[in-house]
Amino acid sequence: MSSEKVAPGDILGVIEEFLPGSGVYEDEKGYLRSCVLGSALIDRYKKTASVKPAVNKYLTLKNGDIVEGVVEYMNEDLAFVRIYWVENRRAVKPVDAIGVIHISQASQTYVESMYDVVRLSDVVRAKVVGGKGVYQLSIKEPHLGVIYARCNYCGGELLYENGRLVCSSCGQVNKRKVASTYILTKVQ
Ligand SMILES: [Zn+2]
Repeated sequence: MSSEKVAPGDILGVIEEFLPGSGVYEDEKGYLRSCVLGSALIDRYKKTASVKPAVNKYLTLKNGDIVEGVVEYMNEDLAFVRIYWVENRRAVKPVDAIGVIHISQASQTYVESMYDVVRLSDVVRAKVVGGKGVYQLSIKEPHLGVIYARCNYCGGELLYENGRLVCSSCGQVNKRKVASTYILTKVQ
C-alpha cells in the first residue's frame, strides 16, 4: 500500500492496472481519477485504487462558503449531505460536517420532489447559507448542484450530454439539478 494526497480529478492510474475503489471513477479514456480530496490508497496486491477522504472536524463553515459532499439521507423535501471539503479564503480544506438542502434551496425553478434534484450517494457542490452544527445549503445557482452521480436504474456512471444526464451503461436519462461543473462531460 502507498498513500499520497490527491484532489478531485487527479489521475491515480489506468483501468488496466487497478480496479476503481471508493472515491475513484474511471473517465472515458480509462484513467482512474479521484472524486474527492484525500489520500490515495493503491493496493498492488488486490489491484485497487481508492481515495480516503481527508477530514477536519473542527473547521467552522461560514455563510457563502462553497462546499462539496455526498448525499447520505433524503426524503421528498430534504437532502442531508456529508460535507468533506470546503473552498474558502482561496483554499480547499478538508472537513467533516453535515449540511441539509431544503427543497426551497434546490433550484431557481419550481421543484415538486427532492428526488428530481438529487439521489442518495450523489456528489454535490453547494453554498452554505446558514446554520451551525447542521449547515443549511443552497444549490440554486448554475455552478452548484450535482457534480457526480450514478444511474437510478443500473448504477452506471452518468455523463452530462447536451444538457441532460445520460447513463453510460443503459442509456437512460436521469433527472437531477446538475451543476455547470459536473465532472463527467461527454466530449462532442
Ligand atoms: Zn443506467
